[in-house]
Amino acid sequence: MKIEHIGIATRSIEEALQFWRDALGLEVTHAETVEEQGVNVAMLPVGEPRVELLEPTGPDSPVAKFLEKRGPGIHHIAVRVADIRAALARLKAGGARLIDEEPRVGAGGCLVAFVHPTSAGGVLLELVEHAGAADSHTQHER
Ligand code: ZN
Repeated sequence: MKIEHIGIATRSIEEALQFWRDALGLEVTHAETVEEQGVNVAMLPVGEPRVELLEPTGPDSPVAKFLEKRGPGIHHIAVRVADIRAALARLKAGGARLIDEEPRVGAGGCLVAFVHPTSAGGVLLELVEHAGAADSHTQHER
């Protein structure tokens, strides 16, 4: 496993970039809107892991609710796994509370699933399987 990215909630990506890009010197290599999650996303690599800036697309976005409750800051940590379904099955067997029982499509076409903070010491944990990485695991899929 590897740290894939650290998600940071912000009210405005443009404003956040004044720090992460302009002051710190990171580069935006990817930006997109993930409609399903109600967020605009900007990715800034720090070595292999990335900072993922998250800006809500509307008031109903889960990130908008997070900002209302807690203000801007670290929203989640994402760990890259080779087989997300196997990772979810293992967590479920261990009694973890899953937000997503089934993986869904996230930024960059990756498969993602979230684990509830109550199971991860107060941290919202995201599992990420890169697109194409599932090829060697097709025997596990129905
Ligand atoms: Zn993320």
